Amino acid sequence: MAFNIALDGPAGAGKSTIAKRVAKELSYIYVDTGAMYRAMALFFLREGIAPENEAAISAACQKIAVTLSNEKGEQQVFLNGENVNGLIRTEEVGKMAAATSIYNKVREKLTQLQREMARTADLIMDGRDIGTCVLPEAQVKIYLTASVEIRGKRRFLELQEKGVTCSLEKICEDIRLRDEQDMNREISPLRQAEDAVLIDSSLMSIEEVVNEILTLVEEKLE
Ligand code: C5P
Repeated sequence: MAFNIALDGPAGAGKSTIAKRVAKELSYIYVDTGAMYRAMALFFLREGIAPENEAAISAACQKIAVTLSNEKGEQQVFLNGENVNGLIRTEEVGKMAAATSIYNKVREKLTQLQREMARTADLIMDGRDIGTCVLPEAQVKIYLTASVEIRGKRRFLELQEKGVTCSLEKICEDIRLRDEQDMNREISPLRQAEDAVLIDSSLMSIEEVVNEILTLVEEKLE
């Protein structure tokens, strides 16, 4: 049976950084499910579909194929065969992803795909509903969080490094809004699974979080 690690938590908690490191240490596959929601959001944006239009979004789902591949340890996301990795990290796509991930048809489609991947491969999968809904049988479940202020500051520094000007206040506001949307939606809201280990990374280094997860994995493998 494949070994699955479910890593959930709010936006900006550092899930992808941590998951990539853990995957590398264990030679597991890393699956970033947020990128899949973002790829679908890009399709809806290109088609000019309003996020409130559930009927149009549900119909559009049938025209979308999201696939993943792994190149040199980096996940690549394909939307109907087109590599969209470089197009999905914008604020616009993130907002559309959060607004459309509330719909049943969108979640159903991606959840099915995620379960298929996890059935045969040892992996660490990050998202919002992996431990609660996608992989309830995952051997290790983590809920990674940090305060809004810390998450905002990390994102602020990341953007500054890329030369993007932004206000810390606005970033924190966006994070609060995203948390609220993800935690209060009807289907598969973001929450800690009962059997997930809570890691608050506010005062922890990346190294410390990675080591804590590796220890949890080792305990299960023993
Ligand atoms: O993690 P990321 O910011 O890329 O995710 C974008 C959006 O996709 C989230 O705000 C959330 O609404 C949605 N998402 C989700 N379930 C997941 C992963 C992401 O609903 N498993």
